[in-house]
Amino acid sequence: MTTIGIVGAGAAAAAATYVLDTAVPDAEITVFEKSGGLCGRAATRRNDDRNLVYDYGANYLKSDDERVVELVTETLSDEGMVDATEPIHTFEADGEVEPGRDADEHKWSYRMGLTQIAKRLFGGTDATVHRRTRVETIRREQGNGDGTDGDEKWSLVDADGTEWGPFDVLLCNPPAPQTAELLADAEWESPVREALRAAAADVPYRSVWTAVLHYEFSLDRPYYGLVNTDKAHAVGWISREECKAGHVPDGESLLVVQAGGEWSTAHYDDDPRENVAALADHAADLVGGDRLADPDWTDHQGWRYAIPEDGVKRGPVDSAADEGFYVLGDWVVGEGRLHAALANGLDTGERVAHRL
Ligand SMILES: Cc1cc2nc3c(=O)[nH]c(=O)nc-3n(C[C@H](O)[C@H](O)[C@H](O)COP(=O)(O)OP(=O)(O)OC[C@H]3O[C@@H](n4cnc5c(N)ncnc54)[C@H](O)[C@@H]3O)c2cc1C
Repeated sequence: MTTIGIVGAGAAAAAATYVLDTAVPDAEITVFEKSGGLCGRAATRRNDDRNLVYDYGANYLKSDDERVVELVTETLSDEGMVDATEPIHTFEADGEVEPGRDADEHKWSYRMGLTQIAKRLFGGTDATVHRRTRVETIRREQGNGDGTDGDEKWSLVDADGTEWGPFDVLLCNPPAPQTAELLADAEWESPVREALRAAAADVPYRSVWTAVLHYEFSLDRPYYGLVNTDKAHAVGWISREECKAGHVPDGESLLVVQAGGEWSTAHYDDDPRENVAALADHAADLVGGDRLADPDWTDHQGWRYAIPEDGVKRGPVDSAADEGFYVLGDWVVGEGRLHAALANGLDTGERVAHRL
């Protein structure tokens, strides 16, 4: 039997698990996720009292990668998939909204939200997923103690001190800065460890601060989302969750307001109530209508490592893979997008299967 350990249960990890479960039938796959949910930054919350479902990290999946399209529309059930068909309009620093690009053929989510992607992928496998299990230490050690080449195994220690393993290969899905922290503390006697740590630590990230604003009235607008094209406005993105079927009751509205990188960094640790109020004012200006400055219910989230702005150097990634340590996720391909994370997960799964 082959044992595979996976740190993190983001979209990339879910896709890799799905591939490995089929391609390596004797594999025992164990996934460790620090949070209570699956799908990482493609995150969905529900408010059952208000009948709301909202994607407050990634807003939608676009159809940019053929294998990912096939995965979500053919391999997995497309039941409950929703497509926000309204276009995306644009604005610049002056806040003037203009009909803009609508390059995305599909803007997919699910009635139950984007987390369905990871739930369906993991659900289609025999993998064991341990939620609320934060990995703190990665170890590489002799497997059976005979010291022969190639019998090294991986093991993990979580935040409660529980040791997991041994694993023949290890996949690591956290964003680059968190992967770099894990590598800094890893008990792995190899120059590859430090090379990969340094490469991961070098990947630049943009922070995003998100406000979610609910209104008891409907909004009649010709667009699903507004995107800031010159990156000079406090707001980077606003979208209307009511354009996704099943997310917002009829006659109500829910705006997801993503602040731009500069604003998010400057206000990251400010009082969330002040941030939400400031972003609601901006939403009122951009979408139009004073009453939007006064939502009747709100939610918020800070994403320190929201979007990688470049990719990791390839050399250390490949050297680590030669030792049985695979990093995967959007930062590995240098595109902070859900379809890119899923595609990299599929690739990584195939690469690991080929090695095994
Ligand atoms: C605000 C925001 C808006 C976005 N908008 C879009 C969009 O509209 N369209 C789009 O395509 N993409 C968007 N993205 C990007 C998209 O969400 C990501 O590219 C994609 O979800 C990345 O998936 P991943 O598998 O690479 O990593 P992640 O989703 O980050 O998964 C990594 C997982 O590892 C877990 N983890 C971390 N450390 C540990 C540890 N020590 N132990 C155990 N588990 C750990 C994390 O909890 C997480 O679940 C957005 C992202 C954000 C934050």
